[in-house]
Amino acid sequence: MMRVAHYHGPDDLRVESVDEPTLSETAVRIDVAACGICGTDLHEYESGPDLTPNEGEPHPLTGVSLPVPLGHEFSGTVSAVGDKVTAFSVGDAVTVNPAVVCNDCRYCAEGRHNLCESVANYGLSAQSGGFAEHAVVDAENVVALPDSIPVEYGALVEPFAVGLHAVRRSGLQAGDTAVVFGSGPIGLAIVQAARAAGATDVFVSEPRAARRKIATEVGATTTLDPTEIDAIEMIRSATNGGVDVAFEAVGIQPTYEAAIESTKRGGQITAVGISTNEVELVPNDLVVVERTINGSNGYLSGPRAAEEFEAAVRYLETGEFDVEAMITGRVALDDIVNGGFEALLDPESNHVKILVEP
Ligand SMILES: [Zn+2]
Ligand SMILES: [Zn+2]
Repeated sequence: MMRVAHYHGPDDLRVESVDEPTLSETAVRIDVAACGICGTDLHEYESGPDLTPNEGEPHPLTGVSLPVPLGHEFSGTVSAVGDKVTAFSVGDAVTVNPAVVCNDCRYCAEGRHNLCESVANYGLSAQSGGFAEHAVVDAENVVALPDSIPVEYGALVEPFAVGLHAVRRSGLQAGDTAVVFGSGPIGLAIVQAARAAGATDVFVSEPRAARRKIATEVGATTTLDPTEIDAIEMIRSATNGGVDVAFEAVGIQPTYEAAIESTKRGGQITAVGISTNEVELVPNDLVVVERTINGSNGYLSGPRAAEEFEAAVRYLETGEFDVEAMITGRVALDDIVNGGFEALLDPESNHVKILVEP
């Protein structure tokens, strides 16, 4: 038997004892060292099921429906390997690319597996998740960690991969200036990926003081509180008319507007904030000034799953990605609801990333 946190529905996350997951011949079993609580988990907890498949509507790829094991940002040590697995051995420190893809749709065929029409994720819509003592995942989704970093740091590789992918999608070049709207975990990952890619100035617009402080620690050159000062005005005047690249990591009207208007003519806006909110924009803010908006979703998956994950791991090794600054709390699995989810949802919270350590 093992302990695992199951999501049953809104405000209903239960730590339960279940049978050990069975190991298929292409899978590995991981003793979880740490699993980060993500904004996606909080969204499911508050107003799901959204990315988790509701009862009676099993996921087409995995057949899983509520209750599901939660937690998709995890790392640990391999404790068993399936008969056909050659890439990993018992004792290896690893992290997980949680995206399970169909390898069958048009987008998988084009090599854009993160756009897979029937993607599932460990920890949302598959048999295993990271808020558990053990997880069983396909070896294709497993990425090795070096000995030089603590194994629990591997739990941050997934959000860093999101930031890295966003910077790659933006086309940001060495010497560019950038602004990031929103410095939650993904915004902070983008700041670090942008600096690693050679951005000279990285502005961060964020109302919470504790998050602005961490943004500065991890490489933001200027932080500002958009509830206190006019972010657009300030950024435009500091950059001779606007930054080269803006990242929108919130997903609401004011940050979209600000992201567009604080970007130079001909500049690039990359949208990362997951949101179903309606946002209005003025066509001429794009058309006559030739600004471009694109979206960025997750990271490379499928056969190339390791690519951006390995790059993120390298940045952890070299210190370009600062894990300690991101981790604001660690809780035991049994304390996941009060010490983890509720703590992060507290509007007064100064937390960024809480690790659950089963
Ligand atoms: Zn996440
Ligand atoms: Zn597909």
